[in-house]
This record gives sequence, C-alpha cells and structure tokens, in this order.
Amino acid sequence: MNTALQADATGAATGLDADRLRADFPILAQEVHGKPLVYLDNGASTQKPNAVIDAVGDFYARDYANIHRGVHTLSERATAAFEGARDRVQRFLNAADRHEIVFTRGTTEAVNLVAASFGGQRIGAGDEIILTGMEHHSNIVPWQLLAERVGAQIRVVPLFDDGSLDLEAYAALFGPRTRLVAVVHVSNALGTVNPVAEMIATAHAHGVPVLVDGAQAVAHARVDVQALDCDFYAFSAHKIYGPSGIGALYGRRELLEAMPPWQGGGDMIRTVAFEGSTWADPPYRFEAGTPHIAGAVGLVAALDYVDGIGLDAIAAHEHDLLAYGTALLEQVPGLRLIGTAADKAAILSFVIDGVHAHDIGTVLDFEGVAVRAGHHCAMPVMTRYGVPATARASLGLYNTRADIDALVRALQRVTEMFG
Ligand code: PMP
Repeated sequence: MNTALQADATGAATGLDADRLRADFPILAQEVHGKPLVYLDNGASTQKPNAVIDAVGDFYARDYANIHRGVHTLSERATAAFEGARDRVQRFLNAADRHEIVFTRGTTEAVNLVAASFGGQRIGAGDEIILTGMEHHSNIVPWQLLAERVGAQIRVVPLFDDGSLDLEAYAALFGPRTRLVAVVHVSNALGTVNPVAEMIATAHAHGVPVLVDGAQAVAHARVDVQALDCDFYAFSAHKIYGPSGIGALYGRRELLEAMPPWQGGGDMIRTVAFEGSTWADPPYRFEAGTPHIAGAVGLVAALDYVDGIGLDAIAAHEHDLLAYGTALLEQVPGLRLIGTAADKAAILSFVIDGVHAHDIGTVLDFEGVAVRAGHHCAMPVMTRYGVPATARASLGLYNTRADIDALVRALQRVTEMFG
C-alpha cells in the first residue's frame, strides 16, 4: 500500500509518508561503507519500487514474447501489454491521441528522433534553432549535429545569475528563420523550473513549434501536454521509478504524420520492395525493431505507482525538503548554491570553497550519502557559473528530512577534512 496520506514522519505536513514509501524500495534498505544508504542521486536515476520490479519479473515469467507480428497467445499478450503501455503514457501526459506516443530508449533518443526526422525535413541552411543556456547535452548535441549537417544556426537563451531564463532575450531571438525551440522543462543542473507554457505561447505567436525535454519534470509535477500546448515532449522511464532503456516522445499528431522515418527496419513499414518501400503510420513509423517490451510493462507499473501516491503530494513533499535543505545548506561554511531561481524543483547543486566537487562526492559516499559530482551533462551551465563541476543532491519521493540531515552531517566531515 503506497497511498498513505498521513502526517509525514519527518514532521512535515506534506500529505506523504516517505518513511512508509521507503519500504517499497528494497535497494534503500542497505548500508554503504557501514552507514545507512542515503540516496540523493535521483536526478541521475531513480530507484525502483517492488511494484516495478515484480511487474517486469512477472512479465518475463508469464507473458513474454515478441510483439505485433505473432499470432500465438504469448505474442498477443505481450502486444496487449506493450500497446496498453502506450495508452497509459497517453493518459499520464494527457495526450489527445494514443498515436501521439512514440516509444524510444529515453529522452536522448526522443530528441535525436525529432532532430533527425523533423529537423532533417524542416531545418535547412540559414535556419535557426533556439536552445537555452541550461540544456542537458542530449538537448544540445543532436541539434549541433543537425546544424553542422545542414548549415543551420543555434541561438541560445541566456540565464540570469539565479538560474532563471532571460525571457526578454528569448523573445528577441525569434526571427524569420527560426524553425524550432527546444527547451528543458526542469534543469538537471540547477533545478530551475522553466515557464514552458509561456515560452510555447511566445514561440507559437511566431509560428514556431517547441520541443520540451521533460526528463527531470515528469517525476516531480503533473505534466499535461495539451495544457502546455507543446509540439513534442520527451521523458525517460528511469527518472520516474521505471526501468532504464525506455522512454517516450509525445508528438502532435499532424507533425508526426508529416515526418519521415528516421531509422529503418521491421515494424516501421507498410510494404517493402526493392523498388521502394512505404511507411507505417505514426507512432509505428518511428519504432523500428524490437522495442524494450518489458520496459514498457515496468513503465506502466511505475506510472501507476506514482499516480497512486499522487504527483501533487510528491511535489509538495519535495518542495518541503527543498526548502528545508536550502536553509540548512546555506549555513554550511563556504558552500554556495548554484541555482536559486524562485521556481525550483528537487535539486540542490552546490560548490564548496577550496574543495573539488569530486572530493565532496567521495567523502559523502564514505558517509553513505550518494550524490552526483561533475558537470551533470550540462557543461555550458558550469561555464556560465565559472565552476568546473558541482556536487548535486537530487530528491525523490522516498527522501526525508533525515536524509537531508545526514547530508549536512556528511558535509561537516568534508569541511573538517578540507577546511
Ligand atoms: N535531459 C535532462 C534534463 C536530463 O536530466 C537527462 C538525464 N540526466 C536527459 C535529458 C537524458 O536522459 P536519458 O539519459 O534518460 O536519455
């Protein structure tokens, strides 16, 4: 049972009992270097509840076969499970049509799909693509590869010091050659929640479609692609308590229908002949080859799990932890938070004077505290703030104030050792 809407055992009235939810995640009940594991690397990947582990195991034990092309019972069951997952993702994102959900390996592959297919068709020499200064490399490099291939230009929305976007500068970047905006919903390096609905409205006023990178958003707030009015929305299952190796791209139906295939193979065709082949309709046109079938089953279990708790309750819980953690970290001598925007989600990125982020990460690991240290695949963000790397604590639904206390105690060890 995971829907405990009770007082938080940590004392916060967030409507979510994280201490009880932790019991759903077997991996959390272990010691690392003789200390209880405190997992604060959810931005990189989240841990899996029993509901997901069991769903994947049961599927392999009972129902697994390849999908779509079989007439036998197991193939029919596996196909029903996979296509049922498409319906589940459609509901989760509130997409208007199940054919708007394309399964991919994750966010990275979804962006590469749009860059290759939509970009290859609609973006040419002299055209412009607008990105922001806080994009993950997976929402920069596919556009650079396209831009190099076709001779397009990339324009970048600058950041204010607090890690929010300069929206006036954004509006001023639009011109007659702007063909696409690609923007991260929640920054993995800064935690900034971008006002994507407003940014999409600006882009649409110029007739420009928008891709939203939702990798860090879906586990922390309710996403409604129709309310956002976005054209593409990408996310990865592993960031929302599901399996790695699967994710989804939402694409507006008229756009997907006009887009050419980007990978060829089985399942994406209507007819094949040596004289020429024809393509299946979306989403199958973009799903060449055997997909991560069990991953889709695990994704359904993950979305059911998260919706069972309620994204609003999760968001409230994480905001409480964020406020609690921010106040405590600000008191650590020499510590500077990178990313202090007013609208932030679940991420505490920081540097400590005179200590390299990797040393922070290593000392914390010895204290049982798992954080990430590095550039977080967002090197332009590091350049913007003049730091080589940050340490990053990123929160999930199972984290508690006690976890933040453990982080702060472990940081005291860091300042003792390096201070
Ligand atoms: N965008 C953002 C903001 C991310 O945080 C990540 C993962 N760190 C990605 C994209 C890429 O996701 P994946 O590796 O699952 O494709």
